[in-house]
Amino acid sequence: MEEERRVSCIVCPLSCVGDVTIADGKVKTVAEFGCPRGEAYAREEVIAPKRMLTTTVRVSGGQLPLLPVISRQLLPKDKIISCARCLANVTVSAPIKEGDVILSDILKLGVDIVASRDLDAI
Ligand code: SF4
Repeated sequence: MEEERRVSCIVCPLSCVGDVTIADGKVKTVAEFGCPRGEAYAREEVIAPKRMLTTTVRVSGGQLPLLPVISRQLLPKDKIISCARCLANVTVSAPIKEGDVILSDILKLGVDIVASRDLDAI
C-alpha cells in the first residue's frame, strides 16, 4: 500500500513543502523540494525523524539557577521526551564553559548533551 505525505522542510528559512511517497516502509518518490538538502531531509523525516534537543538543567553554585543545553547531534524524535526527562534529573556545578559535556551518550544513543553558554560561579 502506498502512502503520500506532505513534508515541510526545516533545513533553511525558505520552508519549501514537498511530497513524499512511501510504500512498504521505503521512500519511493520525493518531489517539489527546492534543493537536494530538502529531499534528503524529507527522506529521513518520513522514515526516521530526528530533532535537536534544547532544554535546561539545574545549576548549583552558579550565577543563574538554570543552564541552557543542546544535543551535539540530532536525536531520534521519538526519544526527545525521554531525553528531556533524563536531563530534568541532572544538576551541574558552576563554573561551566560553553561546549562542556553535561551528559555524555544520553540514553546510550551516542549523542552528548553540551552547555550552550558559559556560566560563572557565584
Ligand atoms: S528544500 Fe532546500 S531550499 Fe527548500 S527549505 Fe529545504 S533546504 Fe531550504
